[in-house]
Order: sequence, then structure tokens, then C-alpha cells
Amino acid sequence: MNVRVNISEESRAATGEQSLRDKVVLVTGGARGLGEAVCANLAEAGARVVCADVRFELAEQVAEPLDGARALRLDVSDWPSVQAGLEDILGNEGRVDVLINNAGIDITLPVDELSVEDWQRVIATNLTGPFMLCKAVLPRMREQGGGQIVNIVSTAAKRTWPNACAYHSSKWGLLGLSHALHVEARPQRVKVTALVAGGMRTPFLLDRFPDIDVSTLQDPRSVARSVRFVLTQPEETVIPELMVLPMTETSWP
Ligand code: NAD
Repeated sequence: MNVRVNISEESRAATGEQSLRDKVVLVTGGARGLGEAVCANLAEAGARVVCADVRFELAEQVAEPLDGARALRLDVSDWPSVQAGLEDILGNEGRVDVLINNAGIDITLPVDELSVEDWQRVIATNLTGPFMLCKAVLPRMREQGGGQIVNIVSTAAKRTWPNACAYHSSKWGLLGLSHALHVEARPQRVKVTALVAGGMRTPFLLDRFPDIDVSTLQDPRSVARSVRFVLTQPEETVIPELMVLPMTETSWP
């Protein structure tokens, strides 16, 4: 067993692949769906995962069976909650190496029916939230000599369909924020990536559209594997943007 681990560690090191062992990883929206799959994947790679969510009890259920993981109550749309969450992590884990901006919501309504409050909630969660988390962690990552941020974007940041104007605006904005911070943070040894995901079999779609054809969607664990791929690139390499689609994607040609 030990021999196998050593061989794989050696071959990993030979390719320059970075290890996630003992890295402190903050995953927002970690309580279900893609966030849950990312928590499981990165904990399995040896990371110390902080599964952060407004649904705290669900986050606890996700973190409990994972080695080195714990749950954190955090509302990405609320600046005091973001600041308190980071303080909690610095107090307990002592550092933050990786941020996965994954929490997201959609309110699917025609523009006439979408209230100003609905619009603000989607933008606050999907765009202002990632901005506030980046703003909170970047100075720490700089002090630590580097870090990584992965922003979970969507094909909704590349094209548009009806009844999702707030979601599209938030995700096009998040793609822009991601590229802007990639440029700004790279000289400080912080890697920023926009991961553009296609449709996934998560409650995000399955709860709202029970009749959806699940064969057109991908397993969120596949997207979680792509997150790990991004995070384990050699030190000298950064992936600013990566698109991961189901073979049968309907929102992309
Ligand atoms: P999901 O609804 O299954 O899970 C989202 C999680 O985020 C939930 O646990 C929820 O409690 C949490 N959350 C919501 N608001 C929050 C807040 N203010 N603070 C903290 N946590 C909050 O969704 P999912 O499908 O796993 O989506 C994850 C990400 O992937 C989202 O950013 C979504 O936009 C994106 N995405 C999803 C799909 C898809 O088809 N499911 C496709 C492309 C991109």
C-alpha cells in the first residue's frame, strides 16, 4: 500500500503536478450539487476542506464523512458573513490556499415578472458574492506567497436563452470578474480560473425542472474532477478558463 502511494507521489512530482495534501480549501455552496462533489473530490486528494453554505445542517452532513473536512455557516451575499467566515478559517486552519466560488442561484422568470429584489438576490449571490470572497482572500493569499481561486461559471456566460436575464447577467459578469482578477492577481502568484460548466444533474436543475431530460446533463463529479485538474497544474502553469460540457449539451452547439 505504502509502495503504491510512493510510486504515485513520485510520478506526480515528476510531471510537476501539484499536491493538494493539507491545502486549506474553502468551497462555497458546498452543501449539495457540484459543491458537494468538489468537497468530496478535494478531501479525497488530501485537502483540508471547509464546506461553506447557508444550509449549514446540510453542509455538516457533507463534511462529516470526509477526512479533514468541516462545515461553515456562510452567506456569500452578505459582507459581514464573508468576513466572519474568513476570520473563522484563519483562526482554525491558520491559512487559506484555495477558494472555490461555487454557490449560485437562478430565478427563472421573464423580465416583466422578475422583481427588482429577485434581480438583486441573483446578482448578490452569483456576482457580488464571488467578488467579496475574492476581496477577502486575496490579501491573505498574497501574504502566504500565492493561492488559487476557481469561479464556477456557466455556459450562461457565453450564450443566452429566455427567462434568465439575471442569471445570464451574473454569470457573464462572473466570467469578466474572473478574467480581470486573473490579470490582477497573477503577478502576486495567485491563479484565477473561470470554470465554464454545462448542465449538471444537481438539485439546481432537477428540483426546478422535474421533467428535464437528465441524459442531456453531466454528473457533477466530472466537473469536480476538472476542478482538481485545474488546481493540480504545475506551479508554472495557470488555466484562466476551462469549459466542461456534457456530450449531449443543449445550451451549447
Ligand atoms: P445547487 O442549487 O444544487 O447547489 C448550490 C448550493 O449553493 C446549495 O447548497 C445552496 O444552499 C448554496 N447557496 C445558495 N446561495 C448561497 C449563499 N448566499 N451563500 C452560501 N451558499 C449558498 O446548484 P449546483 O448545480 O450545484 O450549482 C453550483 C454552481 O454551478 C452554481 O454557481 C451554478 O450557477 C453553477 N452551474 C450549474 C449548472 C447546472 O446545470 N446545475 C450548470 C452550470 C453552472
